[in-house]
Amino acid sequence: PLVLGIESSCDETGVGIVRGHELLANEVASSVEEHARFGGVVPEIASRAHLEAMLPTLERACTTADVDLTEVDAIAVTAGPGLMGALVVGVAAAKALAYALDKPLYGVNHLAGHVAVDLLEHGPLPEPCVALLVSGGHTSLLLVDDIAGVRGRGITELGATIDDAAGEAYDKVARLLGLPYPGGPVIDRAATGDPRAIAFPRGLTSPRDLERHRFDFSFSGLKSAVARWVETRERAGLDVPLPDVAASFQEAVCDVLSAKAVDACLATGAQHLLIGGGVAANGRLRALLAERAAAAGITLRTPRPGLCTDNGAMIAVLGTEVIRAGGRPSGPELGADSGLPVSRVLV
Ligand code: ATP
Ligand code: MG
Ligand code: FE
Repeated sequence: PLVLGIESSCDETGVGIVRGHELLANEVASSVEEHARFGGVVPEIASRAHLEAMLPTLERACTTADVDLTEVDAIAVTAGPGLMGALVVGVAAAKALAYALDKPLYGVNHLAGHVAVDLLEHGPLPEPCVALLVSGGHTSLLLVDDIAGVRGRGITELGATIDDAAGEAYDKVARLLGLPYPGGPVIDRAATGDPRAIAFPRGLTSPRDLERHRFDFSFSGLKSAVARWVETRERAGLDVPLPDVAASFQEAVCDVLSAKAVDACLATGAQHLLIGGGVAANGRLRALLAERAAAAGITLRTPRPGLCTDNGAMIAVLGTEVIRAGGRPSGPELGADSGLPVSRVLV
């Protein structure tokens, strides 16, 4: 089917068009620069930016894909989780389109979309597989039995962060190092120093923590450790070697993420590991995962960095999978759910 996907859960307005697993268009308008001076996403600014960007982005996607709206078979839209005021803009636009075109509407889960996007890159998901979801608001290990959430166990959360998300840790550490928002890509580029220069803590990896939190993550202690280290240096009148601090912080994050992701594959017997979400664009994370997955005999699937951050194509391809699995269209009463759990793929 030819499916149009709409994404507006945070600060990216995304419209993607896919035919099966073929990517025809993926237009993204970001309001990230408007949020930068506040050091994080301001919900009111995001909502307004979505309103302004939605129609132009939709038009650009149709032009790029060389598709007329009347040719589209179905509309998929992010129904949650995310910022309420941002989500409702996409849901309203999708409902209006579905109504005007008389096409079925599918309200789907943004987080499942971060996982499903890999289909556009590497074809059908080898289910069951493990997915490491690492984004600005979420960090979890998922067992994916059925990405459409229709058959078997659907998507099961094996573990998740008990405090900050990985992307949030990058953003907060960047801020305390005086680097601009969003911090992930900036720290990724700044981390040219020695990753072993400073021994920052690896959250929830002690034998005792592993007993209860084998597949969980914690990054707030790491963030505090970086803050303390920087403070101590500054108080002693010493300079802060940014390349080393960035590399050591990044190593602590990626070491834990990759070790637990591979462990989850071994524990569940999954042969394939997928990654998704903004932090999955990170160079060091991709390198460490490649190394460790290969050593454990696990096949790693990594979507190109441009598909890891929020976009409409991931929603379109997830919609495609839901349609193929026989999922029922959402009714005209479809609403946004800011706290939608990852286990609920279709709303
Ligand atoms: P969620 O998907 O949980 O609702 P979100 O949609 O805001 O949150 P994404 O757009 O998936 O999150 O990812 C944004 C996050 O990814 C930000 O925290 C950003 O700093 C981080 N990020 C982006 N690129 C990189 C990178 N190269 N290295 C590390 N982090 C990165
Ligand atoms: Mg974003
Ligand atoms: Fe996201």
